[in-house]
Amino acid sequence: MLQVRNLHKSYQDQHVLRGVEFDIHQGQVKAVLGPSGSGKSTMLRLMALLEPANDGEILLRGQRLGVRQRGTTTVPLPERELAKERRDIGMVFQKFNLFPHLSACRNVMLGLTSVQNIPAKEAEERAMAMLERVGLSHRAGHYPSELSGGQQQRVAIARALVMNPSVLLFDEPTSALDPELVGEVLDVMEGLANDGMTMIVVTHEVRFARRVADQVTLFDSGVIVEQASPDEFFDNPQHQRTRKFLSHVH
Ligand code: ATP
Ligand code: MG
Repeated sequence: MLQVRNLHKSYQDQHVLRGVEFDIHQGQVKAVLGPSGSGKSTMLRLMALLEPANDGEILLRGQRLGVRQRGTTTVPLPERELAKERRDIGMVFQKFNLFPHLSACRNVMLGLTSVQNIPAKEAEERAMAMLERVGLSHRAGHYPSELSGGQQQRVAIARALVMNPSVLLFDEPTSALDPELVGEVLDVMEGLANDGMTMIVVTHEVRFARRVADQVTLFDSGVIVEQASPDEFFDNPQHQRTRKFLSHVH
């Protein structure tokens, strides 16, 4: 359903992504592991169309994202068109990024009312349904400062889900949480996976990757080193680099 082909990204003289390629099928969960600075967040930002690639393609259901064909050349999409494509790709960040002056419900509603022009009443109903799904309907009126980190992250997940994206990208969604709050967020994510959501999850949670992911990927220095089923990846890695990485996280 989602294909990444030969993706490259540089910042100044630093070549951060160096030909990333993978496919993910509808309903699959891909866990991405890798050392700090290897380009994991950069890859997600490109996939979420928050930044343009220098080269390569991202295709959703066979359609190239972020560009339009004009004759024989491709040109970047204008911002309005880009914003439309972005709605189809949800992103959950390490640091939640909720609006502090809006209640949980209003944070979840905002994309519907301001981006999609959906009437407030319908937006509120849909937001409440998503808060229910992440186990937070009883906190709908609370402000972010009145919620735990785990609850804030679940609101952020509801906010991404309410847009009904084709794929959800997670960038270390539990890394900013106190250890005792990690489980509630992973449980929500596992529930989404079981409901058939297509997800790419950058994470250090090896046990989650093993239990929930269909594919596990090791990223290093802007390339994919290894990509395999969880059993293969963890029990029989093919690359020395993977064995070394796993020896540090186990
Ligand atoms: P971490 O595990 O620490 O989150 P990461 O794998 O997500 O690391 P990235 O954040 O993608 O790594 O960064 C990859 C490299 O690109 C780093 O060396 C970083 O300094 C550089 N980089 C990322 N974003 C920018 C930017 N906007 N401008 C310049 N350099 C950047
Ligand atoms: Mg990162």
